[in-house]
Amino acid sequence: MALLITEKCINCDMCEPECPNQAISLGEAIYQINTDCCTECVGHYAAPTCLSVCPIDHAIITDPDCQESNARLWEKFVVLHHLA
Ligand code: SF4
Ligand code: SF4
Repeated sequence: MALLITEKCINCDMCEPECPNQAISLGEAIYQINTDCCTECVGHYAAPTCLSVCPIDHAIITDPDCQESNARLWEKFVVLHHLA
């Protein structure tokens, strides 16, 4: 799964610089995550770092519309970082 930023986001800017895949950007109203670039931090960290730094409960959730296996997340990591 990729992660998803919800309407609970307060635009505190904490998560954007922490993403190792540059998947987070400011959208029209709140921050957003580019699903194609989110690996749930697989390849970088043991847990999603945006979730770790976000001060608001439920502002970042797993995206129910983007279910991906661990193998798929590793594939995304390899492609994103040109390791293939
Ligand atoms: S889980 Fe990791 S890769 Fe995905 S948006 Fe958060 S910090 Fe970026
Ligand atoms: S850390 Fe949480 S509240 Fe802050 S901008 Fe990111 S998603 Fe929004």
